[in-house]
Amino acid sequence: MGRAGIHKISRLLVLANRLPVHRVGRERDARWVPSAGGLVTALQPVLQRVRGCWIGWTGIGGDTPRAFRHDGVIIRPVAVSEQEVEDYYHGMANQTLWPLYHDATRTPEFRRDWWRSYLGVNQRFARAAANLARRGDVAWVHDYHLQMVPRLLRRSQPNLKIGFFLHTPFPPEELFEWLPWRSQILTGLLGADVVGFQTVGSARNFSRLAREYTSAEGTDQELAFEGRTIYVNAFPISIDTEWWEERAQRPDTLRKVQEIRKRIGPKRKILLAVDRLDYTKGIDFRLQAFEELLMSKKASSRDCVLVQIAAPSRESEKDYSQLRAKIERTVGRINGQFSAPGRVAVHYFRKNLTREDLAAYYLAADVMLVTPLRDGMNLVAKEYVATRTDNTGVLVLSQFAGAARELTRALIVNPRDIDQMTKSILQAMRMPYEEAAARMSILRMRVRRHDVYLWAEHFLQALTS
Ligand code: UDP
Repeated sequence: MGRAGIHKISRLLVLANRLPVHRVGRERDARWVPSAGGLVTALQPVLQRVRGCWIGWTGIGGDTPRAFRHDGVIIRPVAVSEQEVEDYYHGMANQTLWPLYHDATRTPEFRRDWWRSYLGVNQRFARAAANLARRGDVAWVHDYHLQMVPRLLRRSQPNLKIGFFLHTPFPPEELFEWLPWRSQILTGLLGADVVGFQTVGSARNFSRLAREYTSAEGTDQELAFEGRTIYVNAFPISIDTEWWEERAQRPDTLRKVQEIRKRIGPKRKILLAVDRLDYTKGIDFRLQAFEELLMSKKASSRDCVLVQIAAPSRESEKDYSQLRAKIERTVGRINGQFSAPGRVAVHYFRKNLTREDLAAYYLAADVMLVTPLRDGMNLVAKEYVATRTDNTGVLVLSQFAGAARELTRALIVNPRDIDQMTKSILQAMRMPYEEAAARMSILRMRVRRHDVYLWAEHFLQALTS
């Protein structure tokens, strides 16, 4: 990683809903172990170069461990009470902001008690950072859980460099306007010096809304607000490309790939999908497209199989349990009609795979289906591309994933257009090697150049220049 952006930083304060570590074991035997997650992976290399503090929640209501040091990083837990888990986390974050920021794929709920709780937790995060902050520190606030933090932190630390990055999309005017607290959230974000988004579209949505609903003035990239200048831009997040490439070439991974292929049937094309079980991921539409493809008889379970890995997510919430039931019904229906002994049409796994196992699945897949209804970026698409070191494999990608802005040589689809989806799946299955390789090599160039290290560097450079 270049050092252009980080050499000026004496210490980086990261603020994110969750800490980069979680506790395993009980009481005296409890240990903190690193959590797997995009943000942790993304910031690890930076935190190894500059001194760092990570301010976040343990994930357990009412938990209040003291600050400690882990792997050179100061970990500062922020307490979230059980009531706040309900209101701030399950409520405002998951049932108001998440659906609203994803095209209102489910109807968002607006509740004043959730908003008050959200404000309270954001205040606690800001206070924790303000107490830790020293001259020359840089604060980097992450995601939709903490949109009020930049302003709250700015109030007590007027000279601190503060950056904010949103991992989800930022919605267009017609949706954002629904929020009863729209001006407050915009002013909250304007407390930062740099406000970063996944795509230019999201950045533009934000700047326009800021001009409309606050006293901010300026262009889509530069806003003047309360005597300060705020820089707004797209910083598309990425992956540790080298890790995936290296993993894809290891003998143990290749052995796993062979095993998967052997069990599934070596002659069948493997279509793979990997998602959290979330309504934004379009799993139900994808299953419908696959079912119609089999019904059309243009493909059969003799020549293809769909492997759907669905990582459990937010299972206590109604929208999620309903979605799960619907998906499992559909999988049952497809298998009931199209499977034969030793030839299951849809392999459905409701579990979390390790990154090591995922690498093997990516490598085993002839076609990768990434078809969310709306997604900030979608790292799975980039991970698949990174593992295809021999340029084989075809990516079918939703135009509504942030990744589609960069991975333009994928087969781009509208996930709600079932006819187009079935056509594209078929096209992907039948694509001649030369065309697939030409496309894949361009996709690979993009993820090799723009990895997660460059992402962090670009953001911090913007923040410190
Ligand atoms: N992932 C994983 N195990 C699984 C499924 C997913 O480790 O069983 C990881 C995957 O490698 C990726 C991340 O979870 O890095 C999902 O990120 P993405 O941007 O695709 O979607 P999100 O879940 O953040 O909405």
